[in-house]
Order: sequence, then structure tokens, then C-alpha cells
Amino acid sequence: MKFQAIKGVRDILPPESALWNRVEQAAREVFATYGYGEIRLPIFEPTELFRKSVGEETDIVGKEMYSESDPPILSDPKFIAGWNKVKELAVAYDPPLGTMGDESRQQILAEARKWLLAGYTSMRWSIEEALENLISLRPEATASVVRAYIEHGMHTWPSPVKLYYVGPMFRRERPQKGRYRQFYQIGAELLGPSDDPGLDAEVIEMLLAFFERIRLTGATLFINSIGDKNCRPAYVERLRGELQKVRDKLGADSQRRIETNPLRVLDSKLPEEQPIIDRLPHIADCLCEACREHYEELKRQLALRKIEYEENWRLVRGLDYYMRTTFEITAPGLGSQNAVCGGGRYDGLVELLGGPAATKGIGFAIGTDRLILSLQNEGVEVSSTPDVFMAWLDGSSYQEARSLASVLRGAGLVVEIPAKPLNPREALGLANKRNIPIAVVIGQNEVSAGVFSIRLLSEREQFKAVVANAPEIGRLLVFRALLERTLRQLAKRIPTAEAEPSFSKLLSRLEEQNMLPGTVSYNIRRAMEVFDRVAHNAAVNKDEMNTAVASALFALQGLSRSYGAQIPLPPQS
Ligand code: ATP
Ligand code: MG
Repeated sequence: MKFQAIKGVRDILPPESALWNRVEQAAREVFATYGYGEIRLPIFEPTELFRKSVGEETDIVGKEMYSESDPPILSDPKFIAGWNKVKELAVAYDPPLGTMGDESRQQILAEARKWLLAGYTSMRWSIEEALENLISLRPEATASVVRAYIEHGMHTWPSPVKLYYVGPMFRRERPQKGRYRQFYQIGAELLGPSDDPGLDAEVIEMLLAFFERIRLTGATLFINSIGDKNCRPAYVERLRGELQKVRDKLGADSQRRIETNPLRVLDSKLPEEQPIIDRLPHIADCLCEACREHYEELKRQLALRKIEYEENWRLVRGLDYYMRTTFEITAPGLGSQNAVCGGGRYDGLVELLGGPAATKGIGFAIGTDRLILSLQNEGVEVSSTPDVFMAWLDGSSYQEARSLASVLRGAGLVVEIPAKPLNPREALGLANKRNIPIAVVIGQNEVSAGVFSIRLLSEREQFKAVVANAPEIGRLLVFRALLERTLRQLAKRIPTAEAEPSFSKLLSRLEEQNMLPGTVSYNIRRAMEVFDRVAHNAAVNKDEMNTAVASALFALQGLSRSYGAQIPLPPQS
């Protein structure tokens, strides 16, 4: 028998998983700078939690949840014992006629009653507990965050409480591109007594800072206000009235929603309903004074941050708990599944779930699967090739190869070290075949007398280091190669750059373009000074070499902080 992943779920394999890690890591870093801490939540919760918060009339709860449906009462031992005893007594109560006196019958009856009662009590207890404990795989995480907020009394923490989460969600939907049954979200929630629109704007700012960090291009922010409990009911009634007039032109889902939840109709994607929906009243015209002012201030706060947005009056979102601010972000290259993030304000939710009424909330959830798809469409990928191939020629050089490899790994480079000795030709051949840009060959018994060589495949350059000076020279040269490779990659962003400038020219050009942080360029220059002396066979002592290695290492780390170690620079726009 051959097993396959269940429909709608998938494996995420290397090298793609490296892009996932990079994206999630960037979110952690950016959110942390806004004061958010990670909350790790359970993957399943009481079904009731989602019914109550997300809403029974939403698609998510109505038809997409993976819920436990079979209360396990029948396996409860107390229930089984009671049941068996009653059965036994029933048989005993039915002996052949005339073989049992009234007294024994009474005894059996009393006994049976006792057991029936016990059985009933245990059964009732089991059923109630089973129903209360029915669980669902989480279709989203805001409900869980709010549950945790209340459960741990976070309203007593310094406010606002800022939390983020990363993890899988589950919805039984029709699988298609960008829509899966197990999918992933990165989300954040801000909870506290204030509902200042500045908080809404800051949440959106953080989201966009994250998108900028991972260089997502072409994202569009849509915003709307859906009112609050003062003004929304009147709008909903007006909407219901208008919808009733066009009832027979609507599909079955929308018809049902006229009664249950007319706002949901605005969310409809049925092409034939679009012209009808276009003529419905807009909520913006029905907002109460407080909601209108909140929305206006949100727009001012976004403008203050130079955040561009489009207003979309139909943005009601697929969950019932939202009020006032709602927003959505779309990204290019995703077809009809183009929403990469949804969010909004949910001021009543904490109270609805039994927490303090004064707590307000706002948050968002990013669909990681779609975000990754969009990045891949933009040509972002993570390289799966190692940076350095560290070949060794014989047993005596293995130790040095290993120690050099661990220094480089410490600097964040991907180093491949073969399990067996290779001769130089094999080593370079392998590195070439696998497209590994830097090959280092270390050997002590070579006829060419105690040297090891470092080869930059992309640059067609080769250095040789004398064993007497190894490992310091070896390290130096590897670092020189790495710096050069990184700088060349950066220089590809400069439109008029020469094809093959020398290392020092390369450095000057990047400095002119302000592309190197000051400390990075300072450290590169310090290291280069020693590189040059080594290249000209000038005397360099071990301390100087070690300092140069440290400077180069520092520069590489700085570059990786500024430009990302794994995500290569996207093609120039
Ligand atoms: P859609 O309208 O696309 O179904 P939604 O309104 O149901 O999205 P939310 O519940 O707001 O989505 O979830 C936030 C984000 O999670 C969405 O913008 C989307 O990027 C992502 N998402 C939602 N459902 C799925 C899914 N089944 N597969 C992949 N990503 C999803
Ligand atoms: Mg959906």
C-alpha cells in the first residue's frame, strides 16, 4: 500500500522550507521591535470557543471546521458497568413462571433501580462532559489568543498586551492554488483598554514593515470601517430590507444570509451577484459619530505614516467578531486567492468570551502559504547550494579542514565537507558540478609541497597558501573570497557597474552608492590591507592575520544583518 498526504495538505521541503524559516524569522524580528512577544497556542480548542467568537453563520464555523463529532460516552467504564448490570438483572427478573416469590422480585427490582440510576447518572455526566469537551482543530487563532488572555488574567499586565503567533490552521475548504486544508498563519494581536486609532495604524505600520523586510512588492492595503454595536444594527436592517427586494436574484447562500447575517452577503464572490451588491447601501453612510471619527482618525494616522491605502466598503471579513476597522492586504501573482493578510478591530470579543468588558483588541493574520507563493513569483528564492566546499586530501589535513569549516559555519556560511579524502581535481570537479562558488582544498602531502589552495569558481581565481602559515592564511583567503563574492552580488544592483571591477574598485563603488553600513566598510578596509600584504608576500604576523579575519567576519555578519543571509537580493526593479 502506498500512502499519500491527505487531500489539501502538503509537505514543505528544502530548499523551500528555508524561505519559510527566513520569512517567519523576519516576522519574529520585526514584531519584537514593536514590543510583541510570541504566544504558543494549542492546535485544538473547545468547539464552542470558535462557535461563539468566529460565529456560527460564518463559512469557517458553519462548514469548514475539523471538529470531533462522536462523543466517546459508550466507552466510559462506569457507563458500561452499569449497563451490563442492568442487563443481568433484567434477565434475572424474567425467570420461568412460578419459580420466584414476590419478595425476590422486589429485591431484584430495587437492585435494578439502583443500577439504572447509577448508569443514568454516569451516562448523563459522560454525555455532558463529552459535549462540553468536543474539540476542533483551530481554523484561526484570534479566539485562542483571547481565550488565553482571559485565562491568564492578562488584563492585569502592563497594557497594551502585544502578542504574536506562528503556526498551522485547519479549514475544510476546496483545495486549490493558495488554498489548503492545513495552511499557515503569522498573526499578531494587541489587547488593552484603549481603542485609539493610532494603535490600529501602528499595527498596520508593523505589518508593512514586515512586508518591506522580506521585500514583498506590489502589496495593496484595503481598509474599511464596519461600525459598532450602536450603528451597525441599523445598517444591517437597512441592508436586509434592500436584500429582501432582490431576494430571488440571489444564490441560495446569500438568500439564507438575508435572515442570518446580511453583512456576509457583501463578502460574496459569485459573479452574478456582483451587480446587485454594487447597488446596496454603503456602511460609510450609516456610521455613528464615534465610529466616523474613529475611521477618519485612522486615515489621518495612516497618512502621517505615509501609508497608502484604498477604501473598500465591502470589506466585512469572514468572521463575526470584527467591528470598526477592518483591513486586508492583497499581493500580486496569486490569482483569485490574492489576500495575503486580513485583520481588524474586535472590541467586543474579550467580553463575549467572558473577559473584562473594557478590553479592546485589534490584530491581523497573514497567510504564510500565499505570502511565500507571492515571493516566489517575484523571483525570491533561497539558495540550496553551500557557500564553501571544504575538500581535504589526506588524514592529516582533515582536522584543519574541520576546524576551518567550523569557523566559517560560525559566520553563518553553509559549508560542505566531504566524508572522504579527494584529490584536488576531484574536489574542484565536484564543487563545479554542484555550483559551489568557493572550493578550498587542504592537503599536506601534495607534491606541490605543503600548500593548500583556495579557488573561487565564479571568479576563476585561485590562491595558494603555504602550510607553514596555515591555518591563518587559509582563513584569510577564504574570507577574502567570501567578502568579494558578497560584494559582487550587491554590486549587481548598481545599474552602471563595470562587469568585473577589482576588489578595491568594487568596494569604492558600493561606498559611493551608500550601500555599505559604515562599520562594514571600515572592517572590510582593515581586512583588505592585510589581504594585500599577504598577496604581495609581505611579512604579516599572526596577530595581524587574526585581526583581519575578525574584521572580515564582522563585516560579513554586518552584511548579512543588512541584506539577509539567506534571501538573495531580488532582481532589480
Ligand atoms: P479568503 O477570503 O481568501 O478565504 P479569509 O477571509 O477566509 O480568506 P482569514 O480568515 O482572514 O481569511 O485569514 C487570513 C489569511 O489567511 C487570508 O488572508 C489568507 O492569506 C490566509 N488563508 C485563509 N484561508 C486559507 C487557506 N485555506 N489556505 C491558505 N491560506 C489561507
Ligand atoms: Mg476563507
